[in-house]
Amino acid sequence: MSPIREALDALQNDAGLQEGWVYAREIPARDPVFGSLDPPLPPQIKGFLDSRGIHLYSHQCEAVSAFRDGENFILTTPTASGKTLAFALPVYEELVTRPESTFLFLYPTKALTRDQEVALRALEGGFSTGPVSAVYDGDTETSRRGRIRQEARIILSNCYELHHILSWHHQWSRFFRGLCAVVVDEAHRYRGVFGSHVALLLRRLRRVCRNYGAAPRFVLSSATLANPAEFARKLCGVPFRVISRDGSPGGSRTIAFYNPCREWPPRRSMHHDSARVVARCMEAGLQTLCFSGSRRTAELVASWTREEVADVFRPALEGMVASYRAGYLPEERRAIEEGLKSGTLRGVVSTNALELGIDVGTLDAVVLSGFPGTMMAAWQQVGRAGRNARDALAILVASPNPLDQYFMHHPDAFFGAPLEHAIIDLENPYILSGQVLCAAAELPLDCDADRDLFPPTLPLTVSSLAAQSLLGRTRRGWIYAGTRRAADLVSLEGGFRETFAVLCNGRVLETLDRAQAYREAHKGAILLHQGEQFRVESFDLESRTIHVTPVDVDYYTRPLKSGSVRVTAVRASRELPGARLHYGDVEVTEQYTAYKMIERESVIGIEPLDLPPVQFPTRSLWLEVAPGPCDAVSLSGRDLAGGLHGMEHALIAVMPFHVLCDRWDIGGLSTPCGGESGQPTVFVYDGYEGGIGLAEKGYEICETLLSTARALVADCGCDRGCPSCILSPKCGSDNQPLDKEAAHQLLSLVLDNG
Ligand SMILES: [Zn+2]
Ligand SMILES: [Zn+2]
Repeated sequence: MSPIREALDALQNDAGLQEGWVYAREIPARDPVFGSLDPPLPPQIKGFLDSRGIHLYSHQCEAVSAFRDGENFILTTPTASGKTLAFALPVYEELVTRPESTFLFLYPTKALTRDQEVALRALEGGFSTGPVSAVYDGDTETSRRGRIRQEARIILSNCYELHHILSWHHQWSRFFRGLCAVVVDEAHRYRGVFGSHVALLLRRLRRVCRNYGAAPRFVLSSATLANPAEFARKLCGVPFRVISRDGSPGGSRTIAFYNPCREWPPRRSMHHDSARVVARCMEAGLQTLCFSGSRRTAELVASWTREEVADVFRPALEGMVASYRAGYLPEERRAIEEGLKSGTLRGVVSTNALELGIDVGTLDAVVLSGFPGTMMAAWQQVGRAGRNARDALAILVASPNPLDQYFMHHPDAFFGAPLEHAIIDLENPYILSGQVLCAAAELPLDCDADRDLFPPTLPLTVSSLAAQSLLGRTRRGWIYAGTRRAADLVSLEGGFRETFAVLCNGRVLETLDRAQAYREAHKGAILLHQGEQFRVESFDLESRTIHVTPVDVDYYTRPLKSGSVRVTAVRASRELPGARLHYGDVEVTEQYTAYKMIERESVIGIEPLDLPPVQFPTRSLWLEVAPGPCDAVSLSGRDLAGGLHGMEHALIAVMPFHVLCDRWDIGGLSTPCGGESGQPTVFVYDGYEGGIGLAEKGYEICETLLSTARALVADCGCDRGCPSCILSPKCGSDNQPLDKEAAHQLLSLVLDNG
């Protein structure tokens, strides 16, 4: 029997775990699929590949052919499938055949940039091009910058740097004139607010290139998405070919689902079970990496794993367990990475700090202590084990959250076609105005000539900026008329009407818009930032600053609020069997009144909040439920208000399934009589000022959302609603009223018959 099979048997027969195993599937090993190229690659490139015995996989050849045909392409094969070569081959082919051509590679993090610099340098040695690439980012010494601008053929950088480079384009004229392609690695990271900024930033880049007579092609890599072509097109503004068939070989992969949450409230923490699973894997001889949501749980799981191996299994393993997270010193982190590579560590429990770019060698098993929020992240974590065609084991230990529980009941959904849409919104007025200012500072703006690069709301944005004296009209077009540098005014993460800065010891941790600040960072709130806990000590409305200190506590906070939604414009409407569905602009008003402190599902304190109401414009979808379904609910003796509220919660809970976002990014409101038409109405809206495209996508795929929500409610074994179905940790009205049966009835009637 294979070691993986043996380990799984031991896990499934472990008396401490037994009842929770709900599913296991083996994905068989794959043979490689090779491709060929006609005409062949230039001799110096082909020669090197031949000398190394490298045969190209089919997707790598497809990438070269697409680029030769002048196409933009997005590559969605998994991380270990030879992606670097798939980008590098077409780029270096062009580079050696066209001496004036230049290339821009954009990475999401500096760490990944350095990592890829090393990989590209090695190729440049092999291809005998000499060193032609250079990193240009915040860490590049000033003394080297001029030379890199003059000479480098490939610039490795990030979007924050590009945002500033564009204002100095005169110094980069050689580079932009020759710019042949822009490579965007890990493109799925550019979504939501940040992605919407980057989409406009890439249009500014295209505009500057156009000024120098260049029209670069785009080459993207991304995790698997439901909408790769649509997403790539929105991000870059050009059509894309999708390359998704992976030709690389892979070992077999066994994925097992374990559900510790068979009752509510649970008898013990799911993290205890995760520790048990990690210990069992280690005992079976598998080197194991466990991912856990927060720093705190990572450390708890690590210490419980130590106890399990010491007490029950093999005490010798106790010293071979470590935890890993963002807050550690670099040398501590490197020691753990080395321990994993060399095999002296047999079990590591990490936050998602280890997810990407950090090489820890090949692991045998991965344990996900809780679904990481997106399938994309889940598959990336699963992919940490079994590289280089080795067999691997992955175990998902479910939390009580709705998404985790949905997968426990519908494991096939985990293996099926990708469900998640990456969303970008070019029309958010706050994001757009900042980006338009930067564009006008780079080159005079002409609403006609630049129409193809910006959304149709460009003239409106320009006139509003002109009215604020931020743009001035000249004969050459609109120019920036502000006093501070435009690029310094715009942050790629924010750019709302008013931003609040969250400060820890004088350092800015993050910025929030007003609604977010009230919701997540009111005085006394426990704020989570990259898995670390902070307590809000002061919240200053005047200076819009929030001071926090790091803490280590057992409770979390939940604000209580009342709210209203007013429709200001209907953009689209259509009929569903039991409701009329709309999408449009709304004005949300939220009044935060108090917050609760909750420890192990019980309230340990409640504190009043003294905040004025917050009002913000955003986009929403809303369902006006037809009289038929409402009457049916009332006639069966159920509570209509509780049903609508439950339906709202279920819809918000399943949104992250189909739209890449967190459920905190979405707000909701349900009312049995206060809708625009006087009909019972459920609103689901973007939690960000101006909207970021979530509700718009929700409107488009509303039937899918409704049927996933219905399954979520129907599958849950609870009687009256629980955190796995319709109870929401973020509900402002304290989950009152809720009626699970009525919610199920309404979801069914809205979907199937009026
Ligand atoms: Zn339930
Ligand atoms: Zn609610």
